[in-house]
Order: sequence, then C-alpha cells, then structure tokens
Amino acid sequence: MKRLVILGGGESGAGTAILAKRESFDVFLSDKGTIKQPYRSMLEENNILFEEGKHTESLILNAAEVVKSPGIPDNAPIVNALKEKNIGVISEIEFAGRYCEARKICITGSNGKTTTTNLIYYLLKNAGLNVGLAGNVGKSYALQVATEKHDYYVLELSSFQLDGMYEFKPDIVVLLNISPDHLDRYEYKLQNYVNSKFRITQNLNKEDCFIFCSDDEITMGHLEKIVLKAKMLPFSQIQEVSQGAYLSDGNMVAKYEEAHFSTPIGELSLSGKHNVYNSMAAAITGQILDVRNSVIRESLTTFKGVEHRLETVLKVRGVTFINDSKATNVNSAWYALESMKAKTIWIVGGTDKGNDYSELKYLVKEKVKAIICLGVDNTKIIEAFKNIVPVIIETRSAKEAVQKAYELASPEETVLLSPACASFDLFENYEDRGRQFKKAVREL
Ligand code: ADP
Repeated sequence: MKRLVILGGGESGAGTAILAKRESFDVFLSDKGTIKQPYRSMLEENNILFEEGKHTESLILNAAEVVKSPGIPDNAPIVNALKEKNIGVISEIEFAGRYCEARKICITGSNGKTTTTNLIYYLLKNAGLNVGLAGNVGKSYALQVATEKHDYYVLELSSFQLDGMYEFKPDIVVLLNISPDHLDRYEYKLQNYVNSKFRITQNLNKEDCFIFCSDDEITMGHLEKIVLKAKMLPFSQIQEVSQGAYLSDGNMVAKYEEAHFSTPIGELSLSGKHNVYNSMAAAITGQILDVRNSVIRESLTTFKGVEHRLETVLKVRGVTFINDSKATNVNSAWYALESMKAKTIWIVGGTDKGNDYSELKYLVKEKVKAIICLGVDNTKIIEAFKNIVPVIIETRSAKEAVQKAYELASPEETVLLSPACASFDLFENYEDRGRQFKKAVREL
C-alpha cells in the first residue's frame, strides 16, 4: 500500500484523506494546530489515522507522496525536510484531479476569482449541466470527487494551490488579472508570483481554451515570453478582439468560433468595471460549452453576487451601505471606488500588506467625502489622504465605524466598507469583519 501523508486537517486535507482512503492508500494526516469539527469527525468516521499539535517526522518522512494544505508555506520546516528526502509534495487539486474525468474549468487571478467562479457555476447550472463547484469555495474538490459524480467542475484556484500542481490538466482556464499580492510568500518577487499564476496553463493542449484579460499589463507582459498551445480568448474593455469579448456601443460582445453573444452592460446584475470583466469571462466560458445565448444572458442579468463583495446591505434613511470586506488589497478597493455613483463615506484600513495608496488618490478625490479608518495602525492611510479628504476619523470597531459613517452621511450618499487591507488586527477574518459591519448597519 502506498503511504499518503496529508499535512493540514482543514477542508482540503480532510477531503483528501477520504478520497485517498477510497483509493486504498495507507493514509495519515498531520496537523500542527488543532483539527476543528466537522473534520475531526470525518476522519474518525472513516477510520483515518491522524495527529494534531505536532508533525511527527517518523510518521511523515516515510510517505510515498505528501498532500499539503495551501495554508502551509513552502518554507515550513516539515516541508523542507520532505524536500531533502525528495518526497513529492502536491496540492489537493493535483491529487484529486487524478481521479476525476470531468471537464475542468479553472479560474485564477489576483482578484475576482470567487465572484467569477460562482458566476460560471451559476451559468452552467442554469444550462442544465451536471456541475460541481470547488477549489477555494465550499466543499473540497477531493471530497466531491470521492462522493459525488459530476460531468463538469468549476474550480477556483489560488496561487498557493497552483504551486503544488504539476500534471493536473484543465480544459478551460480563466486568468482574470495579476496584481501584486501575497508577495511575502514569493520572496517579494513579482515574477515568482506571476510564474505561480501561470502554472494554471502549463498542461494546456491545443484543443483547450485560455481566457485572459488583454488589458492586464502583467498578464500580457508574461504572455510575450511564453508559448501556449491553447486557443487564445482575450477579453478587453479597451479594444475589439476577433475571438473573445469586448465592448461595443454600451454592449458586451462575446465571440467564440461561430457563436456571437451581445448584451447591454447596463443590464448585467453585477455592477462596476471589474464585474464587466468577470461577466465577459463567464460569457466566453458559456459559449465554449455551447450554452444558449438566452441562458448566458439570463445568468449574467440575474446572478446575485457573493457575500462580502460589493454587497448592498441596506438603505437607512436614504444612505446606502455596501459591504466589500473581501477587498483586502488596493486593487480591489480601486474597483469598488470606481463603481461608486454617489458621494461616498469610505471605511478603510486593517492589516497593511505593503500597500501603496497613491493609485487611489484620483478616485478618492473625486468620490470620497470622508474617510473612516478601521484598523489599529492607520498612519499610512492618514498620511496618504490628509490633503485630499477633509474628514478622516479613526475607529476601532465595526459598530463605531458604522455609527460615525452614518452621522456623516447625507441622504442619497453611500457608505462603503472596502478596506484595502487584511482584517486580522481587529477581526478573525474578512467574513467576520463583513458580518460585524452588516450587523451594525441593521442595528442603526
Ligand atoms: P478573489 O476570490 O480573487 O479574492 P473575489 O471575487 O472574492 O476575488 O473579490 C475580491 C475583491 O475584489 C472584492 O472586493 C471584489 O469586489 C473585487 N473584484 C472582483 N472582481 C474583480 C476584478 N476582476 N478585478 C479587480 N477586483 C475585483
């Protein structure tokens, strides 16, 4: 029996363990922290051996192969020890892909992955296809491969998952954009991060499709350096393309082979320039999979969006509150501000990941009436905007931030939480931040 060791007992690790057990591996799972419910019960019920609070080398370094959770960095001591012994370390997606015959639609990018993954899933469901949704969202891919049967999968892939992928082959790839993010895990070298994102294309053949943003400088710069065999399907808001998607007279147009789709951008259910890109990627995917135009149109105009991404919470005495807590970098906050139609009270701040706010100054000047800082250390934000925005206030809780924003807002104005920062200084994670924000709004 081949020994498969799994590092990390979260969603992906527990799912991998169950799939590996089904495939008759000698399975062992090790987690340096504590294993939370329901994963602990899943392991126990399936008679899978595990340890927690430590990594016992003698039980790990005898593996034939190791599946590592994307949360564990490549330079963790146990990963180095495995490398020294030449034991292959792969990701859950790589492992599960070996047992999955379905057609795979894979989405990556610095921003917009979850939104676009869910939008494509929604579209394919509406088309009546038997499709699974996995990757960074919901139930793990491995668990679904072990327990369900789908003809298609829509997979959201982060660069950390891609780093552990070698043979995995998608059928359709969407690369939304690349902007500097997570550089702490890439030796602060942008090229390393770009290479990681492009791993998603490494096994594409000429019958596969590569959907990408030709307005994205980093993507285009890298494409000049490499050769891809796949069908190239760009989307752009700047220029017309012969195959792919573009804008024409206020319409979004998508073309794939003989298929031709067009719909007014004003009717797309997701607002903002960034979501036009996301919708374009989804439309092209639909065309490749022969989805009827009416279904593509219906899907793009009725999709409800995903929680914490430019989510309209409530209108209180004419003031609209928007929760964009997932905007954890400057680029996504840029798109949020860009999409604001009314004067905005902007709630921003948290754990800074090396932000450069200069690219936001123009938009802030045009749209922002007041800034509410929601973070422990707000110096960089205050420094960047003190000469542009007349009112800047510091707060330490979602409740306080919402109350202050409400006091400052006039009817028909918007309060936008789009922090451009991670949340770990004051909150458990971005979901917690978003939920506390929404709760505070509902209590006004
Ligand atoms: P990801 O899964 O890549 O983190 P999400 O769909 O969760 O992406 O969106 C993260 C943030 O980025 C949200 O604030 C969202 O409004 C914004 N966003 C969504 N799509 C794009 C895009 N194509 N380009 C830039 N920002 C985007």
